[in-house]
Amino acid sequence: MIDREVKCYRCSERAVVRVRYAKLNLCKRHFLEYIESRVLNTMKRYKLVTRDDKVLIGVSGGKDSLSLLYILSSLGEAIGLGDLYAVHINLGLGLFSTESIQAVERACKETMARCIFINLKDIIGLSLPELVRVTRRPPCSLCGLIKRYLINAIGLELGVSKAALGHHMDDILVFAFKDLIVGDLENLAKMTPYTPGVTGVVVPRIKVLYEIYEDDLALYAKLRGIMHVEKPCPFKHHDLLKTKVRQAIDEIENTIPGFKITLIRRMNKLANLLTSKKVEEIVPCKYCGLPSRTGVCSICKITLKTHGEPRGPIIREKIRDIAKKTFV
Ligand code: SF4
Ligand code: ZN
Ligand code: ZN
Repeated sequence: MIDREVKCYRCSERAVVRVRYAKLNLCKRHFLEYIESRVLNTMKRYKLVTRDDKVLIGVSGGKDSLSLLYILSSLGEAIGLGDLYAVHINLGLGLFSTESIQAVERACKETMARCIFINLKDIIGLSLPELVRVTRRPPCSLCGLIKRYLINAIGLELGVSKAALGHHMDDILVFAFKDLIVGDLENLAKMTPYTPGVTGVVVPRIKVLYEIYEDDLALYAKLRGIMHVEKPCPFKHHDLLKTKVRQAIDEIENTIPGFKITLIRRMNKLANLLTSKKVEEIVPCKYCGLPSRTGVCSICKITLKTHGEPRGPIIREKIRDIAKKTFV
């Protein structure tokens, strides 16, 4: 909380927030502008976008991805972005999915982004809970690979030049430390703000919230009145290691404001040094043409088990139809 008498650093309005790491007191308007300018600076620092880039955002309905949509929509003109697309994947999670769709629909209307809705059941024939039951794989890893596959396939279909992910600095730091602790250096190498693509196979991915604090993003969503789904995903589980890592990093940040920014910049250098992230290692899937390590992508492998055939080509065909119908 901030004292009622404290004025904004940029104008004479009452400040609503103290940004500790920047030593700034800001009113609502200037806080929103400040966060947008931080995202803009992140994009410049890591050279994440260029003029006329067509960007696709995967929007879950949560505060992070929806804030990202609003921020890129606000910045679009200033940085000369081309079309802004958003895709929502309905995982078939009951009320959680219904509320997510409502939030995304409203955001699409307000930002005027070109939105596309994909229903997992229509595309693969099974919802996420059904896929979890049949494959017996952990829900979040299954969900992650499905979203990566579909967002990439949609991006290729729409001809976008970048896919923007909604991961903020706190998420990335915790993922990176967990990778370091368990020795997964291959994954740690992916914690860079830019992941190159392969023409016709992988859309380049950007993390424009790389230097944005989760708390700032939450306040941005609140002050901007962004409707988002508040309840957690039914599959969300407590990860003790991640919680402890997060607490430790938060504690240092409380003592040394700005620590996380320094840390993520160092971590980026480390990730860049790790050589395992080689684009040449990507082999197009022999069935659907999308990225794989072994010549058969995860979705084709999973559907070979669940449906007795690799369904990547059928999924891509369906996505093509949906994209055509959505944007005629
Ligand atoms: Fe997917 Fe897991 Fe997130 Fe739910 S909690 S949306 S299953 S990654
Ligand atoms: Zn102000
Ligand atoms: Zn495939």
